[in-house]
Amino acid sequence: MKNKIIFILMLIGLFLSSILMVLGVFNLSILDRLTAIDKLAIWSITLFLVFYHFKLKHNHQLVAASLSSNNKKAEQSNTSNTPDVTFNDVAGLEEIKEELLEVIDFIKDSEKYKQMGAKIPRGLLFYGPPGTGKTLLAKAFAGESNSTFLYASGSEFVEKYVGVGAKRIRTLFEKAKKEPPSIIFIDEIDAIGSKRNLDNNNEKDQTLNQLLVEMDGFNKNDSIVIIGATNRLDLLDDALLRPGRFDRHIYVGNPNVKSREEIFKVHIKDKPIDKTVQIKSLSQKTHGFSGAQLANIANEAAIIAVRNNKKKIDGNDFDAAIERVVAGLKVKNPSVQLREKRVVAHHEAGHAIVGKVLDIDMIQKISIVPRGQALGYVLKFPDEDRYLLTKEELLNKIKMLLGGRAAELLIFNEITTGAQDDLKKATDIAQNMVCSYGMGQNGHMSIEEQYVKYNIREIQSQIKNIIDSAFQDAFNILKEHQDILIRMANHLIIHETITGKDVDKYFSKNY
Ligand code: ATP
Repeated sequence: MKNKIIFILMLIGLFLSSILMVLGVFNLSILDRLTAIDKLAIWSITLFLVFYHFKLKHNHQLVAASLSSNNKKAEQSNTSNTPDVTFNDVAGLEEIKEELLEVIDFIKDSEKYKQMGAKIPRGLLFYGPPGTGKTLLAKAFAGESNSTFLYASGSEFVEKYVGVGAKRIRTLFEKAKKEPPSIIFIDEIDAIGSKRNLDNNNEKDQTLNQLLVEMDGFNKNDSIVIIGATNRLDLLDDALLRPGRFDRHIYVGNPNVKSREEIFKVHIKDKPIDKTVQIKSLSQKTHGFSGAQLANIANEAAIIAVRNNKKKIDGNDFDAAIERVVAGLKVKNPSVQLREKRVVAHHEAGHAIVGKVLDIDMIQKISIVPRGQALGYVLKFPDEDRYLLTKEELLNKIKMLLGGRAAELLIFNEITTGAQDDLKKATDIAQNMVCSYGMGQNGHMSIEEQYVKYNIREIQSQIKNIIDSAFQDAFNILKEHQDILIRMANHLIIHETITGKDVDKYFSKNY
């Protein structure tokens, strides 16, 4: 607003000055009525306004996008007010909420803690995979503590010109101090807080230094909490992580089966859901999904239901939504040649058969309907959440991944490019077995990334042995079940999909 008034006054001043100039050129008598002081006043006020306008504009550029009052999006997220999100909107993550409630208690009743000589950590760092609810938690924290929520993304402080990022950090903290109690949330903090010795970047170093200085300063202020979020804790500078700064590191991981159920409940609560929808079964089908993906599935299911002119969202809509999120968009009118279709059908059936024989995860569906970049896929989900895998289980995973190519070789006696993604995943597992899990021939030791290059030949030979032997096993399994492979593939060529239940039937003697 202030900017606009200055701008309008400046235009009026410029207009008057131009008229004075024109009148002066034509030496018109009207000028005689103005004294030299009047003219001087008009000129100097105009000059002042021009100067002031450009100064404001410059200052404005020094303010982070999310803090600038001209930025509409920022205004919405950061209208210097309290978000209406509470911990009820955050499903699961109970232990984290408990921890945050303790900090809120300190903000509300700091005397109690001070009398005990306790200092509550006010620099919290959320780290973990994307979409797990870090931003949501920070917002809910601000909502619950009735604090001003100031959102900034680390990348907003990354600038070409030295000093600009640092100035923006100062502005952010000044704003927080003006509106206590306040929560400063810096998303993607690794953009400014990565280790300083990695590269020599003057601007980035200055920005990080300023952040460290501000954090030291605000420690005296009980009503400001700073929360950082990152997907890569390992990249952050030690100075940022030391006690007194971001001293509480909170891992926010992908939800377990119970939390997935809770997250689904949060995201369907305002949607018309058919009684037949089983949330428990949905949460079992979505192992490894992040909260954001689950929210996306609930939304996709609603869109699919609307597309199908339904009044309520049913189980089929949710299944279609899961498939859409896992495998991508269904390709309309795909032009896959029959020969390719046959290869894909055997390839996918190969994965499924090896998976079934080795009892890896539950197969939900096999499909050769192209989606995204994939010409076919096997949709599977584990019976339960697993955190530890044995060497045998990892080898079985590799075998299942290689089952597609093994089927191609067995049936067509040639291999195609269709296995590209499988090979990458299988090689990654084998590499981790050798280098990280101590499951190779080097005994129980892990090989750090920087030493891999010194032993590359030996490591590659170990990876190759694992892959070759797994491929041979997959091939043998398929040879043993070649009749099922051919029947399943033929079914796929005609009907394009096979359900998990039907896969089981192929293995029963009477089918
Ligand atoms: P990134 O690391 O990519 O910034 P993030 O961890 O900050 O991601 P959010 O932006 O908080 O993730 O989450 C994205 C969306 O996912 C939320 O707006 C919400 O709809 C949903 N979501 C994630 N976790 C939860 C949860 N625990 N409860 C309810 N919804 C969740």
